[in-house]
Amino acid sequence: MKKIIYVLSILIVLILLTSCSISTGKSYKADGFALGTIITQEVYGRDARQVSVEAMDKLKFLEDLMTINDLDSDSSKLSMNAGKGYVELNPETISVLKSARKISDLSDGAAFDITVAPVVKAWGIGTDNPQIPSEETLKKLVPLINYQDVQIDEASNKASLAKPGQMIDLGGIAKGYAGDVLREIYQKNGIKSGLINLGGNVIAVGSKPDGSPWSIGIQNPRSETGGIVGIIQVSDKAVVTSGDYQRYFEKDGKRYCHIIDPHTGYPADSGLMSVTIITSSSTDADGLAKAFVLGLDKGMDLVKKYNQSYSPADAIFITTDKKIFVTPGLHDNFKLEDESHEYTCIKKG
Ligand code: AMP
Ligand code: MG
Repeated sequence: MKKIIYVLSILIVLILLTSCSISTGKSYKADGFALGTIITQEVYGRDARQVSVEAMDKLKFLEDLMTINDLDSDSSKLSMNAGKGYVELNPETISVLKSARKISDLSDGAAFDITVAPVVKAWGIGTDNPQIPSEETLKKLVPLINYQDVQIDEASNKASLAKPGQMIDLGGIAKGYAGDVLREIYQKNGIKSGLINLGGNVIAVGSKPDGSPWSIGIQNPRSETGGIVGIIQVSDKAVVTSGDYQRYFEKDGKRYCHIIDPHTGYPADSGLMSVTIITSSSTDADGLAKAFVLGLDKGMDLVKKYNQSYSPADAIFITTDKKIFVTPGLHDNFKLEDESHEYTCIKKG
């Protein structure tokens, strides 16, 4: 009898050990579409599939809140009530508005500003019919841009837009926020290792299952096939890029990108092709990537300011003359891997 119990307990221990190793080594890859972009998830750990489904559901929920294409969204609610006082919004929208304010404040509204919406609309950015608005139209709309007119009453989850005609566009920060929320879902479910890609916004959750950092490719802004110019190694970081190759249109040989200079109302044209921000907060990284508007030097200054005011951030700026500028934290990390042989890497102080 004793022998049987002994054998049985060894068997039970063995079964427990094997099931444990199967579940921790388990991975799941999921693709989907939300927030206007392709979503991919690589999740390692127990319940990986279930966690990816929960994440996808959450993305759909956030899309419904933040989209400008639906009259019932929080974005539309706020815009439709511009100049009419406060409206109650979901606490998650309030949280995004607060983060937007924080990032806009860093540049006094010269780079990231969610009230660019009326101008974004006039250019038809994100639609099938982008167009160049008349000077007259822009003259009327640019004065409506002012992030300080977004007033937030956190205690009651309310917000308002000061002037009639003002609108908000969360397209430049919603994906970033979604990245942070997804990471929280992973962590809440005990996932220690995962990679989330929200249309170019990458969130590295922990490290790879073997403990080594994730390798993230930095896109070649002029590659038609999604080629890269380099690779960085990161753990527990968001890697977020804004570039002139996403949603641009061309007219008479000129490229018009989807990022608007809040001061002029014109698509940014500051000698950059892309800006990649690497920091812990995916929300902040998305907002900061609009340093794109400012060009190389002022853009780099903005990243430095974020470093000093909040938390460590690194950046990769790629200029139109194909130079790649990387901040000190990436000097030994960024590896030039440029199949086109057109780019050079410059280590910025
Ligand atoms: P992203 O895809 O993160 O590069 O953000 C670009 C999107 O943000 C655009 O499609 C617009 O919806 C919006 N946007 C454009 N210009 C700005 C700006 N200066 N500040 C904030 N959002 C912007
Ligand atoms: Mg972005």
